[in-house]
Amino acid sequence: MIKTFADLDLDHNLLTAIKEMGFDRPTQVQAEAIPQALDGKDILASAPTGTGKTAAFAIPALQYLQDFPRKKAGPARVLILTPTRELAMQVADQTRALAKNTKLNVFTITGGVQYEEHADILKTTQDIVVATPGRLMEYIEAERFDCRAIEWLILDEADRMLDMGFGPTVDRLSAECRWRKQTLLFSATLEGRGVEGFTADLLKEPAEIDAEPSRRERKKITQWYHRADDMEHKLALLKHIITEQAKRSIVFLKTRERLGDLRAELEKAQIPCAWIQGEMPQDRRNNAIERFRDGTVNVLLATDVAARGIDLPDVSHVINYDMPRTADVYLHRIGRTARAGKKGNALSLVEAHDQPMLDRVARYIKEDIKERFVKEMRPKHKKPVFKKKNKKKVEKKNAKKKVAKKKK
Ligand code: ADP
Ligand code: MG
Repeated sequence: MIKTFADLDLDHNLLTAIKEMGFDRPTQVQAEAIPQALDGKDILASAPTGTGKTAAFAIPALQYLQDFPRKKAGPARVLILTPTRELAMQVADQTRALAKNTKLNVFTITGGVQYEEHADILKTTQDIVVATPGRLMEYIEAERFDCRAIEWLILDEADRMLDMGFGPTVDRLSAECRWRKQTLLFSATLEGRGVEGFTADLLKEPAEIDAEPSRRERKKITQWYHRADDMEHKLALLKHIITEQAKRSIVFLKTRERLGDLRAELEKAQIPCAWIQGEMPQDRRNNAIERFRDGTVNVLLATDVAARGIDLPDVSHVINYDMPRTADVYLHRIGRTARAGKKGNALSLVEAHDQPMLDRVARYIKEDIKERFVKEMRPKHKKPVFKKKNKKKVEKKNAKKKVAKKKK
């Protein structure tokens, strides 16, 4: 078993870059994926958010490009697809940092950028291109991008790409890259809708990696919940938590409308915050993230759509102001805290009707989520108990109702 980066057959220049990035040891997914990828295998890997999947594909890709250097100038040889522009930029940044002692270059092709800005790079020699599927497909259709030289196709956050409806586009891109040698697919989960059928067509006898993070890298997230009597009580709890308890929080909301309402409330209370939501102009979204990243504000309001795949550093608290629709989304949300071995907190503000969802989440993650109270802000209602409905009893009850109706 691989224990150190030196155990991997990597060039010195890569090892130095890895060291400079402060990576002491490979994470579980890196230790499993890197040797197999360098062995020429296709990869189907799942590992929780924040466990170093980017380097797990970027390191072997960079090693491969150095093992088989290009003989003449030409188009990209490694294509990395990601669901969002932010993620593409992050992946490109990290890949560039790893490649800093090589001559290899990394470009991004994403939405929200004018063609003119891409035009120049498309003329030069490219080694690695990180792209979002939609925009790349446009370029291929306009014959502005050539996939024929692609040797490695890498899909990052495959589950999210499927969620966002990129499945058919990715299939077409895969067909465009049909001369490739290897395909690597990385995902937080492989359980989502249609992931199985999707991977079957893309990968050839892949090495399957389901990396349970080691105890050391497993996140230390403290999870709890507060009960709220009503919206007003919930707002009071939130204000208290973001001003008195949390250093830096992301607050998750169900919809844009609800986000807008909360924003107005926080403004009234003079609590500075930034926000991101779906269908927001790219520059405004980047601006909001930047203000949060650099500490201008310490509260970021987000909808799930907007927050997909963004790496936000040093979040102390993830707050579910609205409970997510599924347990899986809960996991994605709380994955935003405790990145790379740090400690984090995740808390939910639940009204009576949210209780069943909270119970479902606890069952799904197989952990107990404890209740906490804020002094002077205790809930007044009694905690509701939702028992699993006993089918027979329900039927009996309904039968009785029917009888009662007939009698009337
Ligand atoms: P994922 O894609 O699995 O969510 P990332 O690739 O974004 O995770 O990595 C999460 C964080 O962990 C990044 O800040 C990255 O720099 C850091 N990281 C990655 N690999 C290591 C490692 N071997 N040791 C320490 N930190 C690492
Ligand atoms: Mg990732």
